[in-house]
Amino acid sequence: MDAEGLLADELFCFLEARRKEDFSYSHILSSMCTTPHPVAVKAHALFMETNLGDPGLFPGTVSLEDELIRWFADLYHEPSAGGCTTSGGTESNIQVLRFCKAAKKAKNPNIVVPASAHFSFEKACKMMDVEMRLAPLDHEYRMDVNAAGELIDKDTCCIVSVAGTTEYGMTDPIPELGKIAGQEDIHLHVDAAFGGYVLPFLKDAPKFDFSIPEVGSISVDPHKMGMGTIPSGVLMVRDEKVFCNLLVETPYLTVKQAYSLTGTRPGASVAAAYAVSRYFGTKGYTSLVTGCMENTRRLIEGMEAFGVRRKVTPDVNVATFDHVDVPKPWIVSYTRKGDLRIVCMPHVSRDVIESFLADFGEFHVPNTH
Ligand SMILES: *Cc1c(COP(=O)(O)O)cnc(C)c1O
Repeated sequence: MDAEGLLADELFCFLEARRKEDFSYSHILSSMCTTPHPVAVKAHALFMETNLGDPGLFPGTVSLEDELIRWFADLYHEPSAGGCTTSGGTESNIQVLRFCKAAKKAKNPNIVVPASAHFSFEKACKMMDVEMRLAPLDHEYRMDVNAAGELIDKDTCCIVSVAGTTEYGMTDPIPELGKIAGQEDIHLHVDAAFGGYVLPFLKDAPKFDFSIPEVGSISVDPHKMGMGTIPSGVLMVRDEKVFCNLLVETPYLTVKQAYSLTGTRPGASVAAAYAVSRYFGTKGYTSLVTGCMENTRRLIEGMEAFGVRRKVTPDVNVATFDHVDVPKPWIVSYTRKGDLRIVCMPHVSRDVIESFLADFGEFHVPNTH
């Protein structure tokens, strides 16, 4: 560290140069994050100094968190559901494992997750010394219900299902998993970090929410398809009592107990998520999501016209194909199995898709022998 401070002008010149080294979303086809909506950015700035970790000091910000939770409770068909905001899907999933493990009190606790589960569950299991049992997927990359049933035993404290998988955009058969969870009295968690802002706004989408009576919790991320700011997650629970096992005393704060994983928590990204939800309303999200799905279909159709086969027809705006390389400067990703993966986020507009397809067409020489 230097002894002398820098002049702000000089400093920002330097910072802007560093920022330019980052890739711009204009050519990023691999990310589940996107440019936040301008309304989110403005709200974020307004609440920059708020700390939800000491809620008594920020009752206005707390009321926005409460209203955001109410919005999701209605959207997910259980008006009496509760919840809290988190830093994203990883923290939400860790919290679920924490309260499931605490409630079950098993000697050697385990959870059953689909092979498609996000790697946050591996982190959570390692942290908490819980065994992670992987249920295989069917030919459409959805959790195999019978196989999941066979992995369950008396020490299973949670069944995890995914609504909109990170890699293939598929939704597990959650109503069927609910039947098993109900019979065995096991908590059923739905990881809808991505799909939670997509499926409610689509016609004929697979069911995933509290309308399935056995679903106990749902994680959803405003910083993905919500067009909020980073970091922003929401953990919804059917019954807020699940948090009781996590309470600790917080003697020097304005509240006496807390169950959150983190201490100081940003109010800014919560206000941002709340602001976009009010600004868009369900109609705004419906048109946003419908557009992303149309772009996904156009991309799939365009790639197949070049002879590159889709892996599956996705439930959400994630398209996957047989492995092929793509031209620069496009940034794509590949799944664990090596399949090409493109996420049609809001910044991946129809124009972006057409421009990618045109570049790909010039670059791609079909294999003719
Ligand atoms: C992105 C994602 C996560 C992790 O969320 P973070 O916000 O990156 O912590 C968890 N589950 C699913 C299904 C995801 O797509």
